[in-house]
Amino acid sequence: MRRSWNSTTAALTHPVGYAKMSVIEVCLVTTEMAVPKKKTSKSKKGMRRSHDFDTPVNFAICDNCGKAVMQHNVCKFCNTYNGRNIKTTARIEGM
Ligand SMILES: [Zn+2]
Repeated sequence: MRRSWNSTTAALTHPVGYAKMSVIEVCLVTTEMAVPKKKTSKSKKGMRRSHDFDTPVNFAICDNCGKAVMQHNVCKFCNTYNGRNIKTTARIEGM
């Protein structure tokens, strides 16, 4: 059976008493760590860590202006894609 005691509870309830021990020693004797029931599998560990790191963003170089742009997107600097001038509706309507 698992019990979680703090030092105050232990000193008050234990028949032997912890008067001669320091607070840290009492904590070491009485406090139990939370122990996982099962080993975390490599798969679960990987799934948990899948959000931990940023992935590098791949940029493409615009053929028209030479700036770094998102791949498969219209260049927001010169409004071209694949050598064609693209008029986006958002810019015409004034956003
Ligand atoms: Zn461009």
